[in-house]
Amino acid sequence: LMHLTRKLIEIRSMLLSIDQSDALKLPSIVVIGSQSSGKSSVLEAIVGHEFLPKGSNMVTRRPIELTLIHTPDSAQEYGEFPALGLGRITDFSSIQRTLTDLNLAVPDAEAVSNEPIDLRIYSPRVPDLTLIDLPGYIQIASMDQPETLKEKIAALCEKYIREPNIVLAVCAADVDLANSPALRASRKVDPLGLRTIGVITKMDLVPAEQGAMILSGNRYPLHLGYVGVVCKGPGKKSKDDSTALVARNSENEYFGSHRDYFGPSSTLMVGTDTLRRRLMEVLESSMASSLHGITNAVQLELEEAQYQFKVQYNDRRITAESYVAETMDELKARFKEFTVQFRKPHVRARLKAMLDEKVLNVLEQLYWADKRTTELSALAANPKVTPESVEPYWKYKLDAAASLLTKSGVGRDATLLVADGLRALIDSIAAGEPFTFHPRAAERLTQFSHTLLRDRIGITSDQVENCIKPYKYEVEVDQRDWETGRVQAVELFDREAEMCENKLKEIKKRVGGGRRLNGLIAYVRGLEEQENEKTQKRLSGVVDQSSQVDLNEDEYRYPPAQILDARHAMLCSDRLGILKLRLAALKSKRCKAGPENDVFCPEIFLNAVADKLAYTSAMFISIELLDHFFYQFPREIDSRLLYDLDRREIVEFARENPIVRKHLDLQERKDKLEEVMKQLNSLAALRPDAQPTPRRQ
Ligand code: GDP
Repeated sequence: LMHLTRKLIEIRSMLLSIDQSDALKLPSIVVIGSQSSGKSSVLEAIVGHEFLPKGSNMVTRRPIELTLIHTPDSAQEYGEFPALGLGRITDFSSIQRTLTDLNLAVPDAEAVSNEPIDLRIYSPRVPDLTLIDLPGYIQIASMDQPETLKEKIAALCEKYIREPNIVLAVCAADVDLANSPALRASRKVDPLGLRTIGVITKMDLVPAEQGAMILSGNRYPLHLGYVGVVCKGPGKKSKDDSTALVARNSENEYFGSHRDYFGPSSTLMVGTDTLRRRLMEVLESSMASSLHGITNAVQLELEEAQYQFKVQYNDRRITAESYVAETMDELKARFKEFTVQFRKPHVRARLKAMLDEKVLNVLEQLYWADKRTTELSALAANPKVTPESVEPYWKYKLDAAASLLTKSGVGRDATLLVADGLRALIDSIAAGEPFTFHPRAAERLTQFSHTLLRDRIGITSDQVENCIKPYKYEVEVDQRDWETGRVQAVELFDREAEMCENKLKEIKKRVGGGRRLNGLIAYVRGLEEQENEKTQKRLSGVVDQSSQVDLNEDEYRYPPAQILDARHAMLCSDRLGILKLRLAALKSKRCKAGPENDVFCPEIFLNAVADKLAYTSAMFISIELLDHFFYQFPREIDSRLLYDLDRREIVEFARENPIVRKHLDLQERKDKLEEVMKQLNSLAALRPDAQPTPRRQ
């Protein structure tokens, strides 16, 4: 039969971890009593150790679910707080400290909390029992306690003394039982005392005759009876472990010296050992009688869980580990998919686009802004002018342009461009599902990727810069490079011209048509002339007040936004003019001829240089940045996201995803219920008097 209680205690813990619903509860012993009735002393006598919080100011503020597990084969005694994950605690004063901390963590304003503390004690000297220690009843709340404290404690106790629990009502022998709040509370829910055991403490404080009277239960009968105990050694103060021993001795001494009342011939129940035995018997028979009901309740819950699991998940099982592994695999796969964008031709194209911008800047700076550039077209059109006979001016200009382009920090700019692309890619992956559920993992992902990139940027840009170094001195352009460069330059200029045209159209529309725009432009030109004159005059020392006033008045003939538009339009049409001129040159016989004409067609030459720069940069960025990153990234995922997690973190991670959490919850519930059911069935088989569990399909 001992086996049964023990099994059922295990089952009870499992049921509690499934849910707290009343239907799935096996009985436990609930200890109630007023403050200082000796409740703690009784519990410690049962356990054989001092381990409960001590102090005058409401030290028990939360229910303590105390599970005692008898371990006959091991001499070691230890406690465990499963919820805290502190492992085995062999030092009982440390258990006491932890309990004190947990209780004191309840704020003074609340004073009591319904949240139970789960404590298990393993020892060869404890019986298999589950006991729940509750805050003691108080008479009047002291100054620093909330008014409602008395009711709060009463309500908490009331919740626990409901069926099927067994009530251990602790009363001190030196206080009239009529005044015992424990007995009063238990009588309300269990009038016949069918599941209430009275414990009379401090038997040594009343005359033996009076003590015997109380235990006989004549005045306040309880079906399960009263047990008298003495739990405190008189006077002797002793430390820790010996406390229980001293208490035991003094109890034996006391009852031994009053044999006429409590001796073997008496039917009264006295002593801590008797109390333990009594508790075991009562709990066991109560558990046994709950067995049938609980089996049915579990069966119903199990069927429901199985049904839901089938309907919602088609019986598909998952684990936190598999979810984490799949998520990481998906992440790697998604990343790999995206890396197509970073193949060499793509990178080269992106770098070329960046360099095209640089080419345009160089052209603008050195050629378009130079009024003499129109001459260049005329020179090119003249067959008598050979590249050798052309003015050195144009040769210097071309050298300067090439140098401006090759020394514009291509290494750094190209590397940053690609690194930024990678960064944006990672950021977008980290911002998408399922990382929306895993903000911490997303943060880690972006963090290590950024670090990885940061670490490579310096090395890569130096390397690229180094590899394009020869181009800073000389660029050899062959016929094929030239023709490619020419085609690209034409495309580039076409695009640029189109942009200018669109912009002009836009402005025209905005200011209200071409004529209006022309008017505006004429007006702005006039303004500019006046401005020039004014500057001239100022330079020559003449101050002309009147013209300045005129000018200011004039400024308001058109809204400033339109004046700005007109200025932009002028820039655009100037730009368009030069682009058209140069486009014609690019398509001329001279420019088509070949690289020997580079002075006449700087655009083609610069394009060919940009092409070479893009090609070389892309090659080294691939090796130094991309290959490295692509190799390292999946490994970093493993080491920073996957292997870094311990079992608890893996579960935490998986449960961050609400879909997975729901799935895991139901699956776990089903598994636990199945396990409980299996154990209940094995118990039913042990007991010939128990009815077989109904099995439904
Ligand atoms: P609790 O507040 O109900 O937990 O009561 P305690 O177990 O802390 O006991 C209250 C006081 O009564 C303490 O000072 C104990 O030493 C004392 N006490 C407990 N049991 C006995 C007993 O059997 N005999 C005597 N004389 N004193 C006891």
